[in-house]
Amino acid sequence: MRRISILGATGSVGQSTIDLIAREPDRFDIVALTGGRNIARLAEDAKRLGAAVAVTAHDECLDDLREALTGSGVEAAAGPRALCEAAARPADWVMSAIVGAAGLEPGLAALDQGATLALANKETLVAAGPLVMNRAARAGATILPVDSEHSAAFQCLAGEDPAQVERLILTASGGAFRDWPLERLAHATPEQAATHPNWAMGQRITIDSASMFNKALEVIEAREFFGLPPDRIEVLLHPESLIHALVGHADGALMAHLGPADMRHAIGYALNWPERAELPVARLDLAEIGALTFRRPDAERYPALDLARQVMARGGLSGAIFNAAKERALDAFIACRLPFMAMADTVAAVLDRAEADAATIDAEMTLENILHADAMARHWADGYILHRTDR
Ligand code: NAD
Ligand code: MG
Repeated sequence: MRRISILGATGSVGQSTIDLIAREPDRFDIVALTGGRNIARLAEDAKRLGAAVAVTAHDECLDDLREALTGSGVEAAAGPRALCEAAARPADWVMSAIVGAAGLEPGLAALDQGATLALANKETLVAAGPLVMNRAARAGATILPVDSEHSAAFQCLAGEDPAQVERLILTASGGAFRDWPLERLAHATPEQAATHPNWAMGQRITIDSASMFNKALEVIEAREFFGLPPDRIEVLLHPESLIHALVGHADGALMAHLGPADMRHAIGYALNWPERAELPVARLDLAEIGALTFRRPDAERYPALDLARQVMARGGLSGAIFNAAKERALDAFIACRLPFMAMADTVAAVLDRAEADAATIDAEMTLENILHADAMARHWADGYILHRTDR
């Protein structure tokens, strides 16, 4: 029996993971499931899968969780520390599918106990790439990418020498506004931004797809995971979202990974790695699809891409600052306190502000310093959003 924990089990990736696991109940032993405020879902899945423990991130939800689990034999716990304790329980495979920097510490706890970490939470590598890779190496733990582009690239690289890789191309759908006239973007609403042309995902990553902050995070994630220099990582707009990544080798060969826009492929690949198993995803009919199209992403429409380049060139703790500022800008956009295009202005202003605080941005990469940089960036972002003049 393979011991499995799912961090962020109630979310979009978490539910797709459970969909796969629930099909093979005899193969898996569920250790921990974690969630947020959706206690009914968390408790139902924990009971159905026979988890040892269910954890909500929120202390004030503990009573509800206890009540929902009464008589089931599933333990209940709450709060950020309980999340890390659950992630530290011995398991063979842990899905990291919490959204945001909140996923970093539970992910580290899973790595420290030597579990294979299936990493959907891209913020982990953006904020703390070198630290996370070192911790994994120290514990002898494996990290497997679950972000579809990174899973695709990982599959294209199987059996290849990464040193021979000339370029890695991450595809991007372009999100909800790819065909909108630029002047309309100033008035885009959170509801409009949260409609993805191809993928069904959580609200936050869907809005990040419209702004391409998602792709900006993914470029940094790819650099940290594959160890490639930034100038070898490209972004290609591909509206059909059927090619997820391409890897260009030194001899000119370009390997593409195609698959349906269904996260169960990347999750299932990580679940069965290094083998492949049959998965319940649609098979592509290329004759039916007919044509695949590509465009260069437009820097004016997607300023987040240049910000990612700036972060990679800057180094230090700028990744943690970039991600935290983006999270606060996204919170403000969702709350209708910030226009869509001003999210990038906010992040740019925070990156500038950080340059005046070398003690923060150039601090050694320890967990404590990353959490400090994250907190400072949120503070700077809040200040910028509050004092913007053009609201
Ligand atoms: P989601 O919003 O649907 O789910 C997030 C999960 O995290 C939920 O279980 C929620 O309860 C939990 N959570 C939220 N805030 C938390 C906090 N502060 N502390 C602890 N738990 C918290 O998100 P999602 O779309 O499933 O994305 C999860 C992660 O996977 C993100 O990092 C995202 O970028 C990445 N990802 C998602 C997809 C996708 O298809 N949805 C694809 C690639 C990568
Ligand atoms: Mg992705």
